[in-house]
Amino acid sequence: MKTTPMLRLLAVAVLAGSPTQLRLNAQTAHFTNELLPAVRRAASLIPGDAPTSIHVERLSRERMPLGVAIETDARDTVAADNLVFQVRFPRGWIVVDAADDREFEPNVTFWSDEAYRHIHELLRDARLVVVTHEHSDHVAGVLRSPFRSQVEAHTLLTRAQVQTLMNAPDARIRMDSAVAARFAVLDYEPLMPIAPGVVLIKAPGHTPGSQLVYVRLQSGSELIFAGDVAWNATGIALERQKPAATLQAFGLIEDRDAIATELRWLKNVAMPQMPVVVAHDGAQVEELIKRGLIVAGFDLRNR
Ligand SMILES: [Zn+2]
Repeated sequence: MKTTPMLRLLAVAVLAGSPTQLRLNAQTAHFTNELLPAVRRAASLIPGDAPTSIHVERLSRERMPLGVAIETDARDTVAADNLVFQVRFPRGWIVVDAADDREFEPNVTFWSDEAYRHIHELLRDARLVVVTHEHSDHVAGVLRSPFRSQVEAHTLLTRAQVQTLMNAPDARIRMDSAVAARFAVLDYEPLMPIAPGVVLIKAPGHTPGSQLVYVRLQSGSELIFAGDVAWNATGIALERQKPAATLQAFGLIEDRDAIATELRWLKNVAMPQMPVVVAHDGAQVEELIKRGLIVAGFDLRNR
Protein backbone atom coordinates (compact mmCIF):
# COMPACT_ATOMS: atom_id res chain seq x y z
CA MET A 1 0.00 0.00 0.00
CA LYS A 2 1.24 3.45 -0.93
CA THR A 3 2.36 5.30 2.18
CA THR A 4 0.71 8.69 2.59
CA PRO A 5 1.50 11.06 5.47
CA MET A 6 -1.77 9.91 7.06
CA LEU A 7 -0.76 6.29 6.83
CA ARG A 8 2.52 7.12 8.52
CA LEU A 9 0.62 9.07 11.16
CA LEU A 10 -1.69 6.20 11.87
CA ALA A 11 1.15 3.69 11.74
CA VAL A 12 3.01 5.66 14.40
CA ALA A 13 -0.09 5.76 16.54
CA VAL A 14 -0.56 2.05 16.16
CA LEU A 15 2.99 1.23 17.24
CA ALA A 16 1.94 2.12 20.77
CA GLY A 17 0.28 -1.25 21.13
CA SER A 18 2.07 -4.38 20.09
CA PRO A 19 -0.26 -6.44 17.90
CA THR A 20 1.39 -9.61 19.10
CA GLN A 21 0.49 -8.73 22.67
CA LEU A 22 -3.15 -7.82 22.15
CA ARG A 23 -5.54 -10.21 23.81
CA LEU A 24 -8.34 -11.14 21.50
CA ASN A 25 -10.93 -12.28 24.01
CA ALA A 26 -12.52 -8.87 24.29
CA GLN A 27 -15.69 -8.86 26.36
CA THR A 28 -18.53 -7.03 24.66
CA ALA A 29 -21.58 -8.91 25.95
CA HIS A 30 -22.89 -5.73 27.60
CA PHE A 31 -23.64 -4.03 24.26
CA THR A 32 -27.38 -4.79 24.39
CA ASN A 33 -30.56 -2.71 24.50
CA GLU A 34 -30.24 -2.61 28.30
CA LEU A 35 -26.89 -0.84 28.18
CA LEU A 36 -28.08 2.70 27.46
CA PRO A 37 -30.65 2.79 30.31
CA ALA A 38 -27.92 1.46 32.63
CA VAL A 39 -25.50 4.15 31.45
CA ARG A 40 -28.12 6.84 32.02
CA ARG A 41 -28.76 5.58 35.56
CA ALA A 42 -25.02 5.50 36.24
CA ALA A 43 -24.76 9.10 35.02
CA SER A 44 -27.00 10.15 37.94
CA LEU A 45 -25.11 8.26 40.66
CA ILE A 46 -22.46 10.83 41.52
CA PRO A 47 -23.91 13.88 43.23
CA GLY A 48 -23.00 17.35 42.01
CA ASP A 49 -23.47 19.70 39.09
CA ALA A 50 -23.58 18.08 35.65
CA PRO A 51 -21.29 19.41 32.93
CA THR A 52 -22.44 22.48 31.06
CA SER A 53 -20.66 22.29 27.70
CA ILE A 54 -18.20 20.36 25.55
CA HIS A 55 -15.27 22.10 23.87
CA VAL A 56 -12.72 20.99 21.31
CA GLU A 57 -9.44 22.08 19.78
CA ARG A 58 -7.76 20.61 16.73
CA LEU A 59 -4.07 19.90 17.06
CA SER A 60 -3.39 18.48 13.61
CA ARG A 61 -5.03 17.51 10.34
CA GLU A 62 -4.25 15.14 7.49
CA ARG A 63 -6.36 14.14 4.51
CA MET A 64 -7.02 10.42 4.30
CA PRO A 65 -8.74 8.38 1.60
CA LEU A 66 -12.06 7.22 3.08
CA GLY A 67 -11.10 3.78 1.78
CA VAL A 68 -8.23 3.69 4.28
CA ALA A 69 -10.62 4.33 7.18
CA ILE A 70 -13.53 2.09 6.23
CA GLU A 71 -14.37 -0.70 3.83
CA THR A 72 -15.72 1.21 0.83
CA ASP A 73 -15.19 1.69 -2.89
CA ALA A 74 -15.85 5.44 -2.55
CA ARG A 75 -12.87 7.54 -3.62
CA ASP A 76 -13.50 10.52 -1.30
CA THR A 77 -10.80 11.85 0.95
CA VAL A 78 -11.71 12.89 4.47
CA ALA A 79 -10.19 14.99 7.25
CA ALA A 80 -8.29 12.97 9.84
CA ASP A 81 -7.68 15.24 12.81
CA ASN A 82 -6.01 14.92 16.19
CA LEU A 83 -8.63 16.40 18.52
CA VAL A 84 -8.78 17.04 22.26
CA PHE A 85 -12.10 17.46 24.08
CA GLN A 86 -12.91 19.40 27.24
CA VAL A 87 -15.98 18.43 29.27
CA ARG A 88 -16.68 21.71 31.06
CA PHE A 89 -18.30 21.83 34.53
CA PRO A 90 -19.38 25.02 36.34
CA ARG A 91 -16.02 24.73 38.08
CA GLY A 92 -13.24 22.66 36.54
CA TRP A 93 -13.18 20.21 33.64
CA ILE A 94 -12.43 16.71 32.44
CA VAL A 95 -10.22 16.15 29.37
CA VAL A 96 -11.08 13.34 26.95
CA ASP A 97 -8.04 12.22 24.93
CA ALA A 98 -4.68 13.84 25.48
CA ALA A 99 -3.25 14.61 22.05
CA ASP A 100 -0.25 13.62 20.06
CA ASP A 101 3.30 14.88 20.55
CA ARG A 102 4.97 17.27 18.08
CA GLU A 103 8.12 15.13 17.89
CA PHE A 104 6.04 12.12 16.86
CA GLU A 105 4.56 13.95 13.87
CA PRO A 106 7.36 15.87 12.14
CA ASN A 107 5.72 15.52 8.70
CA VAL A 108 2.09 16.18 9.50
CA THR A 109 0.44 18.51 6.96
CA PHE A 110 -1.24 20.84 9.46
CA TRP A 111 -0.14 21.29 13.08
CA SER A 112 -1.24 24.10 15.41
CA ASP A 113 1.41 25.25 17.89
CA GLU A 114 -1.26 27.43 19.48
CA ALA A 115 -3.58 24.47 20.08
CA TYR A 116 -0.58 22.49 21.40
CA ARG A 117 0.03 25.18 24.04
CA HIS A 118 -3.68 25.31 24.93
CA ILE A 119 -3.86 21.53 25.21
CA HIS A 120 -0.99 21.36 27.68
CA GLU A 121 -2.58 24.11 29.78
CA LEU A 122 -5.88 22.25 29.58
CA LEU A 123 -4.22 19.01 30.73
CA ARG A 124 -2.26 20.72 33.52
CA ASP A 125 -5.29 22.43 35.03
CA ALA A 126 -7.86 19.65 34.52
CA ARG A 127 -9.56 17.96 37.47
CA LEU A 128 -9.37 14.67 35.57
CA VAL A 129 -7.93 13.33 32.30
CA VAL A 130 -9.21 10.16 30.63
CA VAL A 131 -8.26 8.59 27.30
CA THR A 132 -10.44 6.54 24.98
CA HIS A 133 -7.49 4.20 24.41
CA GLU A 134 -3.78 3.71 24.87
CA HIS A 135 -2.35 4.72 21.48
CA SER A 136 0.28 7.44 21.28
CA ASP A 137 -1.97 9.96 19.54
CA HIS A 138 -4.32 9.79 22.55
CA VAL A 139 -1.87 9.55 25.49
CA ALA A 140 1.32 11.31 24.37
CA GLY A 141 0.12 14.63 25.77
CA VAL A 142 0.07 13.08 29.23
CA LEU A 143 3.24 11.01 28.96
CA ARG A 144 5.28 13.85 27.45
CA SER A 145 3.63 16.80 29.16
CA PRO A 146 5.86 19.72 30.17
CA PHE A 147 3.81 19.62 33.43
CA ARG A 148 4.12 15.87 33.75
CA SER A 149 3.92 15.36 37.52
CA GLN A 150 0.84 17.60 37.76
CA VAL A 151 -0.89 15.87 34.86
CA GLU A 152 -0.06 12.32 36.02
CA ALA A 153 -1.64 13.05 39.39
CA HIS A 154 -5.07 13.60 37.85
CA THR A 155 -4.97 11.17 34.92
CA LEU A 156 -7.17 8.11 35.26
CA LEU A 157 -6.01 5.11 33.20
CA THR A 158 -7.62 1.69 33.13
CA ARG A 159 -5.71 -1.42 34.15
CA ALA A 160 -5.87 -2.66 30.54
CA GLN A 161 -4.48 0.64 29.23
CA VAL A 162 -1.58 0.51 31.69
CA GLN A 163 -0.83 -3.11 30.76
CA THR A 164 -0.64 -2.20 27.07
CA LEU A 165 1.56 0.81 27.80
CA MET A 166 3.92 -1.25 29.95
CA ASN A 167 4.31 -3.72 27.06
CA ALA A 168 4.41 -1.07 24.32
CA PRO A 169 7.13 -1.73 21.77
CA ASP A 170 7.23 2.04 21.09
CA ALA A 171 9.80 3.19 23.66
CA ARG A 172 8.61 6.78 23.39
CA ILE A 173 5.48 6.02 25.37
CA ARG A 174 6.40 2.81 27.19
CA MET A 175 5.90 3.06 30.93
CA ASP A 176 7.50 1.00 33.67
CA SER A 177 5.86 0.03 36.94
CA ALA A 178 7.32 3.04 38.75
CA VAL A 179 5.72 5.42 36.24
CA ALA A 180 2.47 3.44 36.21
CA ALA A 181 2.26 3.83 40.00
CA ARG A 182 2.03 7.61 39.61
CA PHE A 183 -1.35 7.35 37.84
CA ALA A 184 -4.80 6.66 39.21
CA VAL A 185 -5.54 3.20 37.76
CA LEU A 186 -9.05 1.85 37.49
CA ASP A 187 -10.48 -1.58 36.74
CA TYR A 188 -14.20 -1.73 36.07
CA GLU A 189 -16.78 -3.90 34.36
CA PRO A 190 -18.56 -2.79 32.21
CA LEU A 191 -19.53 0.76 33.38
CA MET A 192 -18.00 3.34 35.68
CA PRO A 193 -19.41 6.77 36.50
CA ILE A 194 -16.49 9.15 37.05
CA ALA A 195 -18.30 12.46 37.57
CA PRO A 196 -21.87 13.77 37.51
CA GLY A 197 -23.17 13.01 34.03
CA VAL A 198 -20.00 11.21 32.86
CA VAL A 199 -19.73 7.42 32.49
CA LEU A 200 -16.98 5.19 31.10
CA ILE A 201 -18.14 2.17 29.05
CA LYS A 202 -15.68 -0.64 28.45
CA ALA A 203 -15.22 -1.19 24.70
CA PRO A 204 -12.19 -3.37 24.00
CA GLY A 205 -11.50 -4.19 20.36
CA HIS A 206 -9.42 -1.42 18.78
CA THR A 207 -7.09 -1.93 21.75
CA PRO A 208 -7.49 -3.97 24.96
CA GLY A 209 -8.00 -0.76 26.94
CA SER A 210 -10.48 0.99 24.63
CA GLN A 211 -13.51 2.63 26.25
CA LEU A 212 -16.39 4.91 25.32
CA VAL A 213 -17.07 8.08 27.30
CA TYR A 214 -20.74 9.02 27.75
CA VAL A 215 -21.57 12.61 28.74
CA ARG A 216 -24.94 14.11 29.72
CA LEU A 217 -24.98 17.89 30.08
CA GLN A 218 -27.12 19.94 32.47
CA SER A 219 -29.30 20.76 29.45
CA GLY A 220 -30.06 17.03 29.11
CA SER A 221 -28.25 16.69 25.80
CA GLU A 222 -26.12 13.58 25.54
CA LEU A 223 -23.04 12.54 23.61
CA ILE A 224 -20.70 9.56 23.36
CA PHE A 225 -16.99 9.80 22.62
CA ALA A 226 -16.25 6.63 20.66
CA GLY A 227 -12.47 6.95 20.31
CA ASP A 228 -11.11 4.91 17.41
CA VAL A 229 -13.86 2.27 17.22
CA ALA A 230 -14.06 3.84 13.76
CA TRP A 231 -11.73 6.42 12.21
CA ASN A 232 -14.59 8.14 10.42
CA ALA A 233 -18.22 8.56 11.51
CA THR A 234 -19.28 6.89 8.26
CA GLY A 235 -17.83 3.68 9.68
CA ILE A 236 -20.52 3.74 12.38
CA ALA A 237 -23.33 5.03 10.15
CA LEU A 238 -22.70 2.22 7.64
CA GLU A 239 -21.38 -0.32 10.18
CA ARG A 240 -18.20 -0.71 8.19
CA GLN A 241 -14.94 -1.77 9.81
CA LYS A 242 -11.46 -0.58 9.00
CA PRO A 243 -10.22 -2.45 5.90
CA ALA A 244 -8.12 -5.54 6.53
CA ALA A 245 -5.43 -4.07 4.25
CA THR A 246 -5.21 -0.98 6.46
CA LEU A 247 -4.91 -3.02 9.64
CA GLN A 248 -2.24 -5.15 8.02
CA ALA A 249 -0.33 -2.11 6.76
CA PHE A 250 -0.23 -0.74 10.31
CA GLY A 251 0.48 -4.08 11.94
CA LEU A 252 -2.72 -3.60 13.93
CA ILE A 253 -4.75 -6.56 15.10
CA GLU A 254 -8.22 -5.54 16.21
CA ASP A 255 -10.83 -7.84 17.65
CA ARG A 256 -13.15 -7.76 14.61
CA ASP A 257 -16.04 -9.44 16.44
CA ALA A 258 -15.85 -6.92 19.27
CA ILE A 259 -15.69 -3.99 16.84
CA ALA A 260 -18.68 -5.37 14.91
CA THR A 261 -20.70 -5.60 18.15
CA GLU A 262 -19.73 -2.06 19.14
CA LEU A 263 -20.47 -0.59 15.69
CA ARG A 264 -23.88 -2.28 15.70
CA TRP A 265 -24.74 -0.88 19.16
CA LEU A 266 -23.44 2.59 18.40
CA LYS A 267 -25.38 2.72 15.14
CA ASN A 268 -28.66 1.23 16.28
CA VAL A 269 -28.91 2.23 19.95
CA ALA A 270 -26.72 5.27 20.56
CA MET A 271 -26.73 7.19 17.26
CA PRO A 272 -30.52 7.60 16.96
CA GLN A 273 -30.46 9.33 20.37
CA MET A 274 -27.22 11.31 20.52
CA PRO A 275 -24.09 12.27 18.59
CA VAL A 276 -21.42 9.57 18.59
CA VAL A 277 -18.15 11.46 18.25
CA VAL A 278 -15.32 9.68 16.45
CA ALA A 279 -11.89 10.77 17.66
CA HIS A 280 -10.36 11.64 14.27
CA ASP A 281 -13.36 12.78 12.20
CA GLY A 282 -12.69 16.48 11.72
CA ALA A 283 -15.72 17.03 9.45
CA GLN A 284 -18.09 15.44 11.96
CA VAL A 285 -16.82 17.68 14.74
CA GLU A 286 -17.15 20.77 12.52
CA GLU A 287 -20.77 19.80 11.91
CA LEU A 288 -21.40 19.40 15.67
CA ILE A 289 -19.85 22.83 16.25
CA LYS A 290 -22.21 24.30 13.63
CA ARG A 291 -25.17 22.66 15.38
CA GLY A 292 -24.04 24.17 18.70
CA LEU A 293 -23.46 20.78 20.36
CA ILE A 294 -19.72 21.30 20.74
CA VAL A 295 -17.94 24.62 21.24
CA ALA A 296 -14.77 25.46 19.26
CA GLY A 297 -11.98 26.47 21.65
CA PHE A 298 -11.38 25.54 25.29
CA ASP A 299 -12.86 27.48 28.22
CA LEU A 300 -10.04 27.72 30.77
CA ARG A 301 -11.84 29.97 33.28
CA ASN A 302 -13.03 28.80 36.73
CA ARG A 303 -10.43 26.11 37.15
ZN1 LIG B 1 -6.24 7.53 17.25
